[in-house]
This record gives sequence, structure tokens and C-alpha cells, in this order.
Amino acid sequence: MFMHTVRQLVDEEVYSTWFTPMQPLHLSEENVLTVQIPNRWFFEWLQEHYSQEIGQTISRVLGPTGKLAYRDGSTTAGKPAEPLAGRVINHPAAPPDRSMGEAFGHSPAAKAFSEQYLADSDTVADFTFDNFIEGDCNALARAASLALSERPGKTAFNPLLIYGGVGLGKTHLLHAIGNKVKQAFPGKTVVYISASRFTDQFVDALRNKRMAEFQAFYMRCDVLLMDDVQVLAGKEQTQEFFFNVFNHMQLNQRQVVMTSDCAPKDLRGMQERLLSRLKKGLSADIQAPSFETRLAILQRKLELENDISLPKEVVEYLAKTVKSNIRELEGALVSMIAQARFGREPFDLTRAKLILQNILDDIEQEVDMNLIHRQVSEFYAMSPDALVGRTRTQEVARARQVAMYFAKIYTDFSLKSIGNYFNRDHSTVIHAIQAVENLIESDKRFKSDIETLKKKFERD
Ligand code: ADP
Ligand code: MG
Repeated sequence: MFMHTVRQLVDEEVYSTWFTPMQPLHLSEENVLTVQIPNRWFFEWLQEHYSQEIGQTISRVLGPTGKLAYRDGSTTAGKPAEPLAGRVINHPAAPPDRSMGEAFGHSPAAKAFSEQYLADSDTVADFTFDNFIEGDCNALARAASLALSERPGKTAFNPLLIYGGVGLGKTHLLHAIGNKVKQAFPGKTVVYISASRFTDQFVDALRNKRMAEFQAFYMRCDVLLMDDVQVLAGKEQTQEFFFNVFNHMQLNQRQVVMTSDCAPKDLRGMQERLLSRLKKGLSADIQAPSFETRLAILQRKLELENDISLPKEVVEYLAKTVKSNIRELEGALVSMIAQARFGREPFDLTRAKLILQNILDDIEQEVDMNLIHRQVSEFYAMSPDALVGRTRTQEVARARQVAMYFAKIYTDFSLKSIGNYFNRDHSTVIHAIQAVENLIESDKRFKSDIETLKKKFERD
């Protein structure tokens, strides 16, 4: 009866978003109707925007003495529901007129927010199932993604979590799902969002008092594709909000897909209730691709470049050499194509090896030098700029020598390149390494510092 009356007062979309999840529990002798709502955001939103409609409903259904009490369903799973403290509300029977437009995000400010959210949430058209190569490494993740795209929210893969290392196709699959759903069900709202962008939006909405629009946007979507969910680790409030959206979507049989860089059991800093929900859906991992899959990916990308062909042995060499990351594999291919197209010398395997060597060295050495630079300055509590700057104070000079020493041990940089990196010449580097080796022999304290740093690098 209560629900029926509300339904007559609000439009259908509002009803299905905000009132369907509401569950009347019981009516007390004092004429208080208790309803369960999914979470406290709901309460705040309803209070702010629909107190008029709710007030009217209460007085129509229960008469002038009627009251409404909310219970927060998110905190009471498995326990008898506790009423929200102090939240028994007597809605005014004839409240002042309020514009519904404002309430459901049609004001100019609200519209600007929704438009921003829409712009943030678009899918990339190039990432489709068509150009996603299937291999043993990704078969389950791909099959589940494809199946749920055909029946979003209605398969057992809800939620689906796709996890695996960097550059293996997780983001590609998320967009592929989005594109496919949009094509097959133009009426469905599909939202792609990285967890880090989502966190920014959340903080922004809180700061600007726009939680209502923010929540409305996410609660209305049919398919939510959340990329790199591990980023939410330790972000309690964002997680709580996400959980509420997630919960709402699950209750309404809408589809949630997430990706993460590790298995659910290794997701640290995430709320237990979120993890336990993940376990109820499907977790599918993506592994590093086999040689054959790498070759197929390269061939497929080459097909798309219709004016160029690379010698077969070059393509095979690439597939053999770049193993663990498809993004790097693609990057290497792009360099090869550029050389084949614009290079002066004839393009053959020898040339390809040379180019690849440069690319691979770059990738590896940059990481190591940056890491050494960062770790050493952190360890000695000085700014990273000092290490490459002009300062000659003893402390800075010592830290710089240590960084040079580690550069020599852990990277393939020549003494000259190490010197360049620190804006010094190569004889300074030779001197630095010698000095560090001597100190390790003579100074116990220094030796133990070096050991500590070594452990950091070896762990990293
Ligand atoms: P992740 O999100 O796992 O770090 P991405 O989805 O960004 O990785 O993939 C990196 C690049 O590799 C993208 O350009 C993507 O198109 C490509 N890629 C990954 N897996 C495949 C695949 N199976 N077939 C074709 N291209 C792929
Ligand atoms: Mg990604």
C-alpha cells in the first residue's frame, strides 16, 4: 500500500531507482512504519529529495499520526535490523512545493555534473572482442566477458573479476564488454571507470556537496565496469560508497565487472564484505600469453596496417623476445613498423634485433635508475633533486656516491651513462664506486646501511 501510493507520486525511473530497493518491514502500534533501505546514502538522498512525496504518502496511508522509520540494511546483514539512530521522522503532511527537476538532477549544476560523469565513463571504441586474440592465457576471462555481454546481469558471472599482471588485456576486455553491450542493448547505461578516477569523483562530490548526483549517476547504470579496483585499497570511504553502489546493482540484477592486478585473496586493504561478494561471482585470471598467442596478436595488428609487411623471421623474433607484457609487445611492433616504413637501410632481422635491443634496454634501465634514485634519496631523507644537482655537502655527496654504486651493480648503464644521469663525468663515477667499496670495508654502520638498501632493491 505504501509503495503503491509512492508510485503514483513519482515518475517511473525515480521509483525504480529509489523506491524499489525499499522494503517495508512492519507497522507498530504507535503507527510507525519501518522500512529497510540498502544504506545510509539512500536515507540521505530520500530525505533531501523526496521528503515531500514520502510525507504525502505517509499521511494518505497512515493518517496524520503516521511516522516512518528507516533501517539501514547494509549494516545489519544476518542481524536483526537496528533503526538508524534518531531517524524516526514525522514527515510534514503538506510540505512546501519543491521542484522535482532539482531533485533528480535536472538543474544546470546537476546537469553539469552528470555530463562530466558521462564524459569520464566512455568506452574506447577500438577495444573490441573482434580484435582481442584468444589464447589459453585468457580463455576463461574472455569467454565469461563475452557471455555476460550477451545477457548482462543475468549470468552467474555477476560480479566478474578479471585479474592479472600489467599489459595483459584486462582494460581491453572491460571496454570490449562495454562496446558490445552498448551495441546489443542501446537502451542500457554502460559506465566504464577506473577506480582511481572514481576515487577522484567521490572526493570531488563530497567536497562540492554533490553526493546526490554522484550516487544517482552510479545507481542508475545497468553495467558498471570498474578498472583496477586494487586502487581502492585503504580508501575506506570510497570503498564504502562503492560497496553501496555495488550492492544496489546486485539487488537489481545489474552487471558489475571489475579488474585487479592480483587475485582476490591477495587484495589487501579491502573491506571483507566486498571480498566475500567477489567470491560469489567469478574470478578469472589472465596469464602471460604463450608464444603462439603472442604471434597471433602481432599478426592481427599487422593485418590492420594494410600497407606494410614485415619479414616473417622478424615477427617471430619479436614474439619470441617480448614475453610478459602485450603492451610492450605492441610498442616494439610499432617501432618495427616505423623503421620498415621510413628507415633508409633495408629492414631485416639484424636491424630488428638492434632496434629491439634499444627498446628493451630503455624499458629495463629506466625503471632501475628511477628506483635507485628514489630509494637512495628516501633512505637518506633528501630530495631526489639534490642527488642530481650541484650540492657538494658531504651528506649529499655520500648519498650520490651510493646511488652511483648501486647503478653500477644493478643496471647495465656504462660508467659514462651513470655519470650523465647524475650530471657528473665518468671519472667521478669510478671514484664514487671506489669510495663506497672502501667504506663498506672500514665502516660497520655504513656497511649495514648498504645492506638495508640492497634488501630494498632485491625485494622490489
Ligand atoms: P592491462 O589493462 O591488463 O594492463 P591492457 O588491456 O591495457 O592491459 O592491454 C595492453 C595492450 O595490449 C592494449 O593495447 C591491448 O589492446 C593489447 N592486448 C592485450 N591483450 C590482447 C589480446 N589478447 N589480443 C589483442 N590485443 C591485446
Ligand atoms: Mg589496465
